[in-house]
Amino acid sequence: MSYTLINPATGETMETIDHVTVDETDHAIERARVAQKEWASFTPAERGEALRRFARAVENDVETLAALEVRNSGHPISQARWEANHVRNVLDYYSAAPERMLGKQIPVAGGIDITFNDPLGVVGIITPWNFPMTIASWGFAPALAAGNAVVLKPAEWTPLTSIRLGELGVSAGLPDGLFQVLAGKGSVVGNRFITNETVRKVVFTGSTEVGKGIMRGAADQIKRVTLELGGKSANIVFADADVDKAAATAPYSVFENAGQDCCARSRILVQKSVLDRFMEQLEVSVSKLVVGDPTNEATEMGPLVHASHQAGVEKYLEHADVAFRGSAPSGPGNWFAPTVTMSRGVTDPCMTDEIFGPIVTVHAFDDEADAIEIANATEFGLSGSIWTRDIGRGIRVSRAVESGNLSVNSHSSVRYNTPFGGMKQSGLGRELGPDAPLHFTEEKNVFIPAD
Ligand code: NAP
Ligand code: MG
Repeated sequence: MSYTLINPATGETMETIDHVTVDETDHAIERARVAQKEWASFTPAERGEALRRFARAVENDVETLAALEVRNSGHPISQARWEANHVRNVLDYYSAAPERMLGKQIPVAGGIDITFNDPLGVVGIITPWNFPMTIASWGFAPALAAGNAVVLKPAEWTPLTSIRLGELGVSAGLPDGLFQVLAGKGSVVGNRFITNETVRKVVFTGSTEVGKGIMRGAADQIKRVTLELGGKSANIVFADADVDKAAATAPYSVFENAGQDCCARSRILVQKSVLDRFMEQLEVSVSKLVVGDPTNEATEMGPLVHASHQAGVEKYLEHADVAFRGSAPSGPGNWFAPTVTMSRGVTDPCMTDEIFGPIVTVHAFDDEADAIEIANATEFGLSGSIWTRDIGRGIRVSRAVESGNLSVNSHSSVRYNTPFGGMKQSGLGRELGPDAPLHFTEEKNVFIPAD
């Protein structure tokens, strides 16, 4: 089996990627099992050094990685460069972890009690097509740092940067088979990560629907899982906020990566008294968004990843009250102009569904309690933003919104040094931040008597 890639910005057919079979997946997992033993025999300092060499290999390859993401995924070049540099940063950050897996010394009677953080063995990582290389690194860097081997299955549509990262790991001198990238279908390769007993943990990022299946499958072997799933995040704008700044920045909180972002603030909740002002300013900022050729340095938003995904996004316009739209090129490529709709109520599909495209819906609210209730009226809980000049309100609302990653008067959400993950059906477990390597270990407790 194989898959022929299509450039999302031009519609041109590109290279064909061979897919691995179930047998080849098993073979790779066995190689990973052997490699992990070798990796575990390295001293912590040697593992750290190997990860730093991997980081340098990525650093020297930023332009190549970025160009691959532009071609394969349609990401604007400036964004793709940021992503490649982010992978380097993630590797650098976790390269310090092997020497900092400290364990604990627990005071007990009659001797000493110590804990060890043992690696799990082989970890399987399954990634989506929206941020292929960054999301992969959130799994493989801390997993490797904790002493594991990794098999990575990228999404069928967007494998190129992951394949390249696999090559860079080899060139950096990681043990043979320690980090392998297996291109293939989720139902074949991804599913084998679930059923093969040598894989002790699966890190899955993707849709909530597929994630539920992964969790069900993992139950058979009590296999560990981390799930990073969908979102329908709220950007809450109170009347006491810097409304102009909120409106100027809102497009970047939802239209980045053409809305194909699990953290997209795709519901804007605006306090009624400032709705008109906010909409006027939002129209200005949306019209300024530079949508077009992703190879252009000035481009802020590229095409959607695939024609079939574009068709799915377009369906939402059939039953939506469109307020205004930005611009997009016409002609070949999966173009979709950034679109702002007015909410038809909390059951409007634009208010409930993760569209994963450049559509944002504005919903007016009365007061703080109303805003919190609407923000939480979703099964998702991944990110969100709160705009207010009242510091107390910022604290109250950020504590009340059921979401894993919030920001006040800003739209930041992913930093490699802070934890990231979802509440409710947006996921299970956390990635990134100082504790991520621990999530790839088993805590072992040992008591040694003093007599
Ligand atoms: P998806 O359809 O769930 O696919 C994600 C990955 O799972 C792909 O590699 C896919 O493989 C694989 N897969 C599909 N069926 C599988 C199965 N039965 N067993 C094992 N693996 C399987 O998601 P997507 O359409 O690529 O991505 C969009 C979704 O990802 C959105 O819902 C978004 O919110 C979510 N997302 C979440 C985060 C987060 O951090 N929370 C980040 C990014 C994206 P193939 O497609 O190659 O066959
Ligand atoms: Mg899918």
